[in-house]
Amino acid sequence: MNNKTIKNAVIYTRVSSVEQAECGFSLARQEEECKEFALKQGCSVSKIFVEKGESAKTVDRTELKNMLEYCAQNKKNIDYIIVWKLDRLSRNMNDHYALSAFLGKLDIDILSATENNQNDAVGKLTRNMLQAFSQFENDQKSERVIAGMKQALIEGKWLWRAPLGYKLIDGELLIDEEKAPMVRKIFELYASGLYKHSCINKYIKKHYNYEIPTVSLYSMLKNLVYCGKMYCPSLHKEVVKGKFEAIVSDELFAKVQSMLGGNRFQALTNRINSAEFPLRQFVLCPFCGTPLTASKSTGSKNKKYAYYHCYNSSCKTKVRIPKNTLEKMFIEFLSTVKPNKECIETVKKSLKEQYSSMSKEFNKNHNDLSKKLTELKSTKDKLVDLYIQGKIDDTIYQSKLDSIKKEENEISITLNELKTPKANFNSCLDYVLNSLENLENLWLDNDLETKQKLQKLIFPSGLIYEETGFRTGSNPWFDIKKGALMAPIFYMVPPREFESLSTP
Ligand SMILES: [Zn+2]
Repeated sequence: MNNKTIKNAVIYTRVSSVEQAECGFSLARQEEECKEFALKQGCSVSKIFVEKGESAKTVDRTELKNMLEYCAQNKKNIDYIIVWKLDRLSRNMNDHYALSAFLGKLDIDILSATENNQNDAVGKLTRNMLQAFSQFENDQKSERVIAGMKQALIEGKWLWRAPLGYKLIDGELLIDEEKAPMVRKIFELYASGLYKHSCINKYIKKHYNYEIPTVSLYSMLKNLVYCGKMYCPSLHKEVVKGKFEAIVSDELFAKVQSMLGGNRFQALTNRINSAEFPLRQFVLCPFCGTPLTASKSTGSKNKKYAYYHCYNSSCKTKVRIPKNTLEKMFIEFLSTVKPNKECIETVKKSLKEQYSSMSKEFNKNHNDLSKKLTELKSTKDKLVDLYIQGKIDDTIYQSKLDSIKKEENEISITLNELKTPKANFNSCLDYVLNSLENLENLWLDNDLETKQKLQKLIFPSGLIYEETGFRTGSNPWFDIKKGALMAPIFYMVPPREFESLSTP
């Protein structure tokens, strides 16, 4: 380091909210030691940047950004950035290299007031090691935080803000006696199947003087917290029973889910819904009309037997049908169910409409994006001209060129990702009609959610089990009104079918 001429430095100090409590990190002390160090080096300090209570993440720090901007603007007058320790500046290797590279371009060196500043191999190694250690420390800290959260979740602790109907007091989720009855009422109203969202909103506004946006109503009805459970797949893959009181019963919650047909449907506990028992809650007991539930029992030699059965305690005849028997019966029954002419016509018409609107949308998007690409190309040509004529300098040229290339790239990717409705319409139609003719295969080939949707679609009021076969409820397949079939059937044909059908 050259001490003969006066050098200029800026000082950067930082303390996170956690560190504020610990000694040895105080901003005043960092600043004092940095100033002392500058004096020893014969530097004059032109500006001090103080970062208070921000996270260790480099991108989140406003003062760091301000300092880098200041450095870029005053690069000729700044020789050093002085920090108390290198970990004040960056907490991971990538950020460290990025910062060093940036400051290197400006011809500004980073000096640590308390660590090795030599610019030789040993000095660099020391600095890199220090950086590596602080990254390790940081990674470990976040691992610990996640592990802690996971543990707390498994123990049944609520880790988030209190949802409507609850209060969070000293980290414990407690029933909000004022709002909980309203939440329960919302579930009951929805489960009755008699009210639309807007009606429920109106009812709640009138009786509880509380307004719930439709979106919140939806997410509320799907929130497992209300039946006393938690599901947070990023921390733990299973549903966890919470250490707090439920506002609605499991049964009520399950009923609402089956009516919503929502995404959380499958996230429920086994007791409520399981891929192993697709007919649970769908086939009805012939004696009391209760939807059958299902479970496994252990027989001799520890062999498991799966059954569908009636769980109504006041039902005199306890129906109990082996899983395989009932499902086989159901599949055979399905194979006898065929769409009538009217239904086929409706599906044809609906598919045609959907196909044509998909094609239109695809063409429009494709044209718009291609047009944008052409425009970018001509902008690029103009830029090159300006550069050749010496009207713009290297830096501007490069940065403009980079941003054009970036945009070009993004558009190309979007273009590639555009879903091409390349399927031949007739083969698509054949596929759907064939699926309708062979409902049993459609049912067998699909996942739990689709199976259950299909069941509900064909037999809206369930099937009554009888030893000799099934009895349909009040709304059999043949009575399905014109149009009622359109959306769901189309929905069940996954878009990928279009593609797989089109490939020879
Ligand atoms: Zn029964």
